[in-house]
Amino acid sequence: MELVEESPYRFRIDRRDPMRVPGVVFASRALIPHVDEDRWPQQVANVATLPGIVGASYAMPDVHWGYGFPIGGVAATDVAAGGVVSPGGVGFDISCGVRLLAADLDRTDLPRVRDALMDGLDAAIPRGMGRGAVWQLADRAELDAVLRGGSRYAVERGHGVPRDLARCEDAGVVDDADPGQVSDRAVQRGQQQVGSLGSGNHFLEVQAVDEVYDEAVAAAFGLRVGQVVVMIHCGSRGLGHQICTDHVRAMERAMPGHGIEVPDRQLACAPVRSPQGRAYLGAMAAAANYARANRQLLTAAARRVFARTAGSGLHLVYDVSHNLAKIETHGVDGADRRLCVHRKGATRALPPGHPQLPADLRAAGQPVFVPGSMGTASYVLTGVAGAPAFASTCHGAGRVRSRAQAGRSVRGQELRRELQARGIAVRGASWRGLAEETPQAYKDVSAVVDVAEAAGLCRRVARLVPLGVVKG
Ligand code: 5GP
Ligand code: MN
Ligand code: MN
Repeated sequence: MELVEESPYRFRIDRRDPMRVPGVVFASRALIPHVDEDRWPQQVANVATLPGIVGASYAMPDVHWGYGFPIGGVAATDVAAGGVVSPGGVGFDISCGVRLLAADLDRTDLPRVRDALMDGLDAAIPRGMGRGAVWQLADRAELDAVLRGGSRYAVERGHGVPRDLARCEDAGVVDDADPGQVSDRAVQRGQQQVGSLGSGNHFLEVQAVDEVYDEAVAAAFGLRVGQVVVMIHCGSRGLGHQICTDHVRAMERAMPGHGIEVPDRQLACAPVRSPQGRAYLGAMAAAANYARANRQLLTAAARRVFARTAGSGLHLVYDVSHNLAKIETHGVDGADRRLCVHRKGATRALPPGHPQLPADLRAAGQPVFVPGSMGTASYVLTGVAGAPAFASTCHGAGRVRSRAQAGRSVRGQELRRELQARGIAVRGASWRGLAEETPQAYKDVSAVVDVAEAAGLCRRVARLVPLGVVKG
């Protein structure tokens, strides 16, 4: 697979049959040293064959191999022109995402409370495979209320304040969720897990703002140098996973009837305007609401710990998902079109002035959070006008080593010692899980963010450094 260099930050995969559009990869030579050995470039090309795709099949600088679509992939299809939706373009962890909370604490206040705070979080944040949750749902009816109401339902039930909703993508709830499209198996998996992190890549991290690149935007986000913040990364747990599995199967069966052929079965898809497309989008919205309620409940748990151990509040900066398909309006060839924008391991990044932003963020643009790893920096970014990939940017550093490789490369105990020696408190769920998440498993997040900015996808606002991590 040849990558043609268009600029130091933008590469093209030329269109050839059966691709309908070219591939566009935002990266640098340094970030893609082994393109021939990697499987993601072929995935970028495969996505370019999807019916109705417009513009290009895009890859963000943190791109790596995923199920069907690469992680770090963005693809938009034209709904009126038979454009498809593909569960593989959203991923198994539907509406996985990140929220950032600003504490009323300075990093110089932390040493005095850190042990109590970290032990409190360790006890209050359920995590690991299928082990407990903040919220015990009474019955299926209450789960349906979560699937329909997302963070709004959680706040109505006392797990947050109305201001939280103003600071959530979609005000905390995706419309048109259809719990009727969620299988019994998915319900079973979801019933016990609302308010839990899940496995190792998910975390709650206490961080400090280490550097601010844009004072005005940081101030609008409520951030200043030295401030303590909390980053929460989690998604829709077993429920989202099961929904993806169920709907991939249903679409596989329906594709011949729609006359759709794909080069990889993992790209199973159906027109947005088809029974299977609508069914998936209804189920996906339900899972997205589950993920948002999940982050809201973990926020409530973290707030209780911060109040008790540090006398501090936690104020939501923003909550945004990085695994989702959304129906959005974008200009294509000079005309506004309704598109189904898939972002898989990619973050929506609305530019300043966008009508979907709350009034107090309108001038600054949408906050974007890019976690690095438990031992490195993470970033706060904002959207920019005229960005090339349907208002999207990166979502992380991106893996370079598989979990298995990483797990063999270091022992969890050793890693924890190293991190603690660098002043980063670690509360893991398992030693093996911790080792699989070694910072060595990820690309250099600063390089990823530099390329994203240079490619015109977003702008840097602040750099965060870890003080303590509660790992899934
Ligand atoms: P994903 O959503 O693809 O599972 O993960 C998003 C990103 O989170 C990864 O690409 C990685 O850069 C980052 N990440 C994983 N674990 C941690 C962690 O413990 N702390 C921070 N700050 N980032 C992490
Ligand atoms: Mn996830
Ligand atoms: Mn994620």
